[in-house]
Amino acid sequence: MKMSLIEKDFEFIWHPYTHQKNRSPSIPIVKGEKTILYDENGNQYIDAISSWWVTIHGHGNKYIAKKLYKQAKKLEQVIFAGFTHEPAVKLAEKLLKILPGNFSKIFYSDNGSTATEVAIKMSLQYWMNKGEGNRNKILAFNHSYHGDTFGAMSVSERGTFTLAFRDKLFEVIFIETPDGKNIPQLQQQIEKYKNEIACFIYEPLLQGAGGMRMYDPNNLDSLLTIMKKENVICIADEVLTGFYRTGSFFAGDYLTQKADIICLSKALTGGTMAMGVTACTQDVYDAFVSDDKMKTFFHGHSFTANPLACTAALASLTLLQKKKCIERIEEIVIQQKNFLNTIQLFKEKNIVKNLRHVGTICAFEVQTNENDNYLHNIGSFFTDYCLQNGVYLRALGNTIYIMPPYCITKKELKKVHSVITGFLESIIKKD
Ligand SMILES: *Cc1c(COP(=O)(O)O)cnc(C)c1O
Repeated sequence: MKMSLIEKDFEFIWHPYTHQKNRSPSIPIVKGEKTILYDENGNQYIDAISSWWVTIHGHGNKYIAKKLYKQAKKLEQVIFAGFTHEPAVKLAEKLLKILPGNFSKIFYSDNGSTATEVAIKMSLQYWMNKGEGNRNKILAFNHSYHGDTFGAMSVSERGTFTLAFRDKLFEVIFIETPDGKNIPQLQQQIEKYKNEIACFIYEPLLQGAGGMRMYDPNNLDSLLTIMKKENVICIADEVLTGFYRTGSFFAGDYLTQKADIICLSKALTGGTMAMGVTACTQDVYDAFVSDDKMKTFFHGHSFTANPLACTAALASLTLLQKKKCIERIEEIVIQQKNFLNTIQLFKEKNIVKNLRHVGTICAFEVQTNENDNYLHNIGSFFTDYCLQNGVYLRALGNTIYIMPPYCITKKELKKVHSVITGFLESIIKKD
């Protein structure tokens, strides 16, 4: 008997972040075009979270595809130690011009987790190379998320995602995000470890996987000022916030205090290919330039600076810098803000709380009798409801958020909003 794709998927595949027991069938997607995903039965879904926050130009972008095809015929991959190629150099040159800060070198890797791993390793070895190896403490925020590999997990919130590995994660000092009142307290915490802190890693303005938590750039600036005074290497994890997610090219554009290291991935290639970037300042880089070969940064990945990924990133940047794209982003920001105003009435009825937005992203929590948490059941109800109504959304526990591709039309985004409103109304009816 011939097995269907879904049956084979059950047989052969283990999906990410998916509870396996009695899991519902994965939906076979056969085509993606701009904002729309098509399944094998011809159903259409608006991809309102940009396929896990990556596809900023939507699916099947013809311009990126054309560039990829050309590059694939020319040079698809080459070892990046001893060799170089035009897409890698061009992309580095372009990124260094637009990044928020005084960066001078680009280090390539494969994804967001490797980008943060590289940043942490660079920071620790920086101090080692300078003969200050005991300066090795690491600071991170509560509710942070920096990836799923061990180093990245270590600097992430000790919670649901990392519980099974708790004993194996290295020590990190977790601090609160600055709220305007707690700065003196944070300063005390930092000064307690004077000359012992190697680096501080943070998601500027928006903590994504930790629950779409947003915080004020001015408060972050105050905290970074303290960090800089103590010579702490500041690592901005802009894996999510980069490429206009927050309404500006980078979240760092809202800050006066610039990072020493910045991490990029997700939308870097327009969401077409996996790629990570870690950029650093000249000062960080200089600590690795020495007659002593032991000061080398011994890190690299098989697909470092993959020419196809670099090509996709260059093409994505070209699209992103078009006036039409920026204008649409500005409209999305306003449309998202307005949507939150229209669901205020659900807040008054205690159906939702914490309505918030930054740039193209808006988020809120659904109020329930349970505590807020990632394993909350409402998430799967919500996704099913949306799918039935032609929209794909995925909640983080009871946190609902929208993170659309920038090519989403006004009408499509309106539809996403009305489906969410319909879901909230269905909660009232159930009560
Ligand atoms: C998604 C994410 C990562 C991890 O990126 P992957 O490509 O999934 O490994 C790291 N940091 C932040 C802020 C992220 O949102």
